[in-house]
Amino acid sequence: MLGPVLLAAARSDNVRRLVSAAPVTRSVVNRFVAGERLDESVAVTTALVDRGLDVTLDHLGEDVTGRAEALRSRDAYLALIDRLAAEHLGARAEVSVKLSAFGQALPGGHDIAYRNVLDVVEAATAVGTTVTLDMEDHTTADSTLAIHADLRGRFPRTGAVVQSYLFRTEKDCLALAGTGSRVRLVKGAYREPASVAHQDKHEVDRSYVRCLRILLAGSGHPMIATHDPRLIRVAQSLAARLGRTPDAYEFQMLYGIREAEQERLAGLGHRVRVYVPYGTDWYGYFMRRLAERPANLAFFARSLVSRG
Ligand SMILES: Cc1cc2nc3c(=O)[nH]c(=O)nc-3n(C[C@H](O)[C@H](O)[C@H](O)COP(=O)(O)OP(=O)(O)OC[C@H]3O[C@@H](n4cnc5c(N)ncnc54)[C@H](O)[C@@H]3O)c2cc1C
Repeated sequence: MLGPVLLAAARSDNVRRLVSAAPVTRSVVNRFVAGERLDESVAVTTALVDRGLDVTLDHLGEDVTGRAEALRSRDAYLALIDRLAAEHLGARAEVSVKLSAFGQALPGGHDIAYRNVLDVVEAATAVGTTVTLDMEDHTTADSTLAIHADLRGRFPRTGAVVQSYLFRTEKDCLALAGTGSRVRLVKGAYREPASVAHQDKHEVDRSYVRCLRILLAGSGHPMIATHDPRLIRVAQSLAARLGRTPDAYEFQMLYGIREAEQERLAGLGHRVRVYVPYGTDWYGYFMRRLAERPANLAFFARSLVSRG
């Protein structure tokens, strides 16, 4: 039951101030976040690529409250893409964006986010890399998928994310499984009401398998984002049964989570992409990682006590 409490705390300014100011927070954050600066994220990316892994980079930030802030998010991505080009990393490293960082929640936010992300997708395409639109809470799903559809008209490799905890997602998978699509399947990381999302973990897993079947049977490029060993095994056997070659789908995992498994899968010839977040605005991302796993929270609490 701690997960929902932490996800609520992730939205509280008071808790944000308390957690951010705790001296030990930084060392725990470092387990999940590549650093605050672009240089640090590029160093982590290079090291992962050298180990045979692909990368998607996330400049941390979400829920911006003004247009200037949204433009700063866009500019951070443009700088990141320039840097990937300069380091010749475009073929192995793409970027993930949250449209809330580009102004989606502002008045007229759909159009603002579209214009900002369009600049990023154009720049990414010019240097030979791709963009995936992360999925946030369910209230943003229609807007995010509509922006994704518009972008795909001109940039067919723009990736989408679908969350198996949402009731709507099998239908979204059917719509997205066509030729050339890149679709990341996740369980979902936000606190969602019972009116729109499965609350039972087993139901979320069962929905994940149904979505896997749809995406793997389709003609797009499924991006299977999970650390769950059972679902990874199901994906491997479904992909083999459907005659998918290893370059026709990929596994994705988060930076700092199940690293040995990332390398094991890559060693078996699978394509594995690591999601690497960086930047100063790490709070929301960090709280979602704590909420996913009680052991992470216990680790964080122990370090508070032992140093406090
Ligand atoms: C590449 C990638 C991109 C993602 N993008 C999005 C997105 O756009 N929108 C969205 O809502 N969600 C996103 N997520 C998060 C996702 O929705 C889940 O919250 C998260 O992946 C945990 O679910 P799981 O599938 O790993 O399964 P779980 O059942 O949560 O975990 C299975 C096992 O994985 C390990 N594990 C899982 N989480 C952690 C953790 N935090 N720390 C340590 N070990 C852990 C544990 O061993 C656990 O038993 C993304 C996840 C990945 C991997």
